[in-house]
Amino acid sequence: MATIKAIESRSVHQIQSGQVIVDLCSVVKELVENSLDAGATSIEVRFKTHGLGLIEVQDNGTGISPTNYENVALKHYTSKLSTYEDLSSLQTFGFRGEALSSLCALSDVHIVTAQADQAPKAVRLEFEVSGKLKKTQVVAGQRGTTASVENLFCKLPVRRRELERNIKREYGKVLGLLHAYACISTGVRFSVKNTVAKTKNVVVFATKANPTTKENIANIYGAKTLLALIALDLDLEFEHSATGKRRDQDVTKIHVSGHISRPVFGEGRQTPDRQLFFVNSRPCGLPQISKAFNEVYKSFNVTQSPFIFADFQMDTSAYDVNVSPDKRTVLLHNSGPLIESLKLSLNQLFEDSDQTVPVAQVT
Ligand code: ADP
Ligand code: MG
Repeated sequence: MATIKAIESRSVHQIQSGQVIVDLCSVVKELVENSLDAGATSIEVRFKTHGLGLIEVQDNGTGISPTNYENVALKHYTSKLSTYEDLSSLQTFGFRGEALSSLCALSDVHIVTAQADQAPKAVRLEFEVSGKLKKTQVVAGQRGTTASVENLFCKLPVRRRELERNIKREYGKVLGLLHAYACISTGVRFSVKNTVAKTKNVVVFATKANPTTKENIANIYGAKTLLALIALDLDLEFEHSATGKRRDQDVTKIHVSGHISRPVFGEGRQTPDRQLFFVNSRPCGLPQISKAFNEVYKSFNVTQSPFIFADFQMDTSAYDVNVSPDKRTVLLHNSGPLIESLKLSLNQLFEDSDQTVPVAQVT
């Protein structure tokens, strides 16, 4: 019989990292969220060959303090959370200190960073596979951080081949994700570029640090999109089964804000490719909610799908983001009554929508 023995710690690290960084979207999500957490008002995302060669995110945020250089890419080192209890009052996207450490295990990572008092000097940081700091070098640079990820999954050959095979589809998903961050982030300038072969940096889309989400939508999808939209402003309130004695706490209140196409023919689209969902301004996939939106819309407009931008504002106790290692799944408690209540409100909104004045066009 074979002897039972522990897996080498380096292999464990790679396996776990592959669960945090599952695909191209995970890389972009983690780097953009780090920039937003650092208070950036300008974020540029650059790809080489759709991300196969390079994924680079540059921000003008706080920069990384020199005292943190040694720890920045070590597993479970974070400047954002120190105890499990802090999770319930979380204000930042990141909190587990796993992204940079996982990226080092799966690809070639380097960071150039400067705090305000260091600029125009910055420091370039290079890391070992374990996340240990390998090299620092003074370079020129403005306040902020640029994180560069090259040769994604080069350390996991099967995953690398999978990425190469599906790169166009993966890149399409990444753009959808970036649309979501760029739309919700008012006051932040987003710019996304892709270089393929000998072409110069081609701007894929850009927003202009607008004060409203409507202007962000206009920048990304074109000002005409706004003409088809009505405002989402729903107050959902529902009771759910009691788990304790304090029955008065068993009412959940959720506010849904955003924009949706009017359910008239010509206002929707052939494909449901412009549907953005958020929980407390955090972009996330909400398959059941998305299904509910599309079902109600279909009962008014059978041939098309709506543009949807829907932000669900709710108490942090009503959901859990810590379900999967990549934090992409958001578990909504009491999703059954939530969906019933949502469908009723949407029906009402669409029935009244003939009288609704379309959202004004942004010039
Ligand atoms: P987390 O975001 O969960 O803390 P990460 O591995 O993503 O973990 O990042 C580790 C730490 O590196 C962060 O807590 C933060 O202090 C620092 N950091 C990463 N990216 C940036 C950035 N763009 N600007 C400033 N600090 C950053
Ligand atoms: Mg992070």
